[in-house]
Amino acid sequence: MARYTGPDCKLCRREGMKLYLKGERCYSPKCAIDRRPVPPGMHGPSRKKQSEYGIQLREKQKARRMYGVLEGQFAGYFEHADRMKGVTGENLLSLLERRLDNVVYRVGLGTSRTEARQLVRHGHFTVNGRKVNIPSYQVRAGDVVAVRDSSKTSPRIKELAEFAAAHTAPQWLTYEPEALRINVLRLPRREEIDTPVQEQMIVELYSR
Ligand code: SF4
Repeated sequence: MARYTGPDCKLCRREGMKLYLKGERCYSPKCAIDRRPVPPGMHGPSRKKQSEYGIQLREKQKARRMYGVLEGQFAGYFEHADRMKGVTGENLLSLLERRLDNVVYRVGLGTSRTEARQLVRHGHFTVNGRKVNIPSYQVRAGDVVAVRDSSKTSPRIKELAEFAAAHTAPQWLTYEPEALRINVLRLPRREEIDTPVQEQMIVELYSR
């Protein structure tokens, strides 16, 4: 499964904001946005006024990069969202939010989506009792995501369990720290998704 392998901090500098792609480092003084908040490249910040297209493109790139999704897959999410009932932009965010790697990250069983994705890929989680190692797996209302019994002794999982116990899960999920289990109560509502993107801009971009 393809994924972006370039420098993460460069993506934050391009978007001019923290995308929280590197876990603990993002909260430390080493964060590139705190140290050098200018776009990458030798010419530094542009003085040109951004076009409407430019603004829409940046919103799409921001969402795509935060959730760690490549261009083609993101377009697929948009097509799916567009076919669903309801508001397309909100559907799009809901689909991204329901990815298994994001659910793991949201409860704190990964310090970044990248780490959560790697843990899922390495087979540390089950959904409704069955091993699932697909980061893009879409959770549904009523699903139960859990750390596999054989993974509970892993030193990193133990560290993350402590991190998750002190973390607040979004309201559409509940996390049981003793059992290392996540219950998907319902699908996320827009107001429960704190991703700082203007999804309407993304809809306008794809509607051009
Ligand atoms: Fe972005 Fe994290 Fe790098 Fe800071 S440390 S620039 S938030 S990836």
